[in-house]
Amino acid sequence: MTGFVLPLPATPSVAVAGSPERFAVRRIFCVGRNYAAHARELGNDERDPPFFFTKPGDAVVDAVVDAAVGSGTTIPYPPLTQNLHHEIELVVAIGRAGFRIPRERALDHVWGYGVGVDLTRRDLQDEAKKAARPWDWSKAFDRSAPCGPLVPAQKSGHLEKGRVWLAVDGEIRQDGDLAELIWPVPDIVSICSEAVELRPGDLIFTGTPAGVGAIGPGEKITGGVDGIGEIELTIGQPGP
Ligand code: MN
Repeated sequence: MTGFVLPLPATPSVAVAGSPERFAVRRIFCVGRNYAAHARELGNDERDPPFFFTKPGDAVVDAVVDAAVGSGTTIPYPPLTQNLHHEIELVVAIGRAGFRIPRERALDHVWGYGVGVDLTRRDLQDEAKKAARPWDWSKAFDRSAPCGPLVPAQKSGHLEKGRVWLAVDGEIRQDGDLAELIWPVPDIVSICSEAVELRPGDLIFTGTPAGVGAIGPGEKITGGVDGIGEIELTIGQPGP
């Protein structure tokens, strides 16, 4: 019998709303631009096809409101940035494997939905864009993917519209609607599956509406997606 030279790493996971069970996370895919207004604020043509970047599966961290599944989350302000940005997003949780999934079958592969924040070191991203370098250091850092409890699609249904919002210390900064998605969930799942075989445990962050901005130590993020739930996340002092 063979073994491993070091203990196996913990499996990253996200809470499931109303359940003691958790959703084991495999990979995290993120859509770069998916709301017309946010694409415009970054100076892009809203008709561009979607593109993807990734975060490590273990970048996920619970961002909970409900004390039943946790006590609220504080994450340290990450290193190497002076301009940490919030991006509130609908998160799609994949429950069934598929490669080259047709758009009209795509929702069969969705286990559920969540509310996530694609934390971004915007200064590093701006430098990467200018130098035509990868986005990893701006997007794929530790705890860069806070996510609220997932809701099974059997309970929530599949969402075509609904408010997507984020506030910092109670002040609304992002206020969009899923109806504004340039590429809705079935398209995103289908197009992502052309590049990789999606597997159970994969999460897809579907892009953020307009209003992204900086957050700093001591500030509290709240946010939500109508029909899915709300999140709460505090940014702590700088740390790893
Ligand atoms: Mn994003």
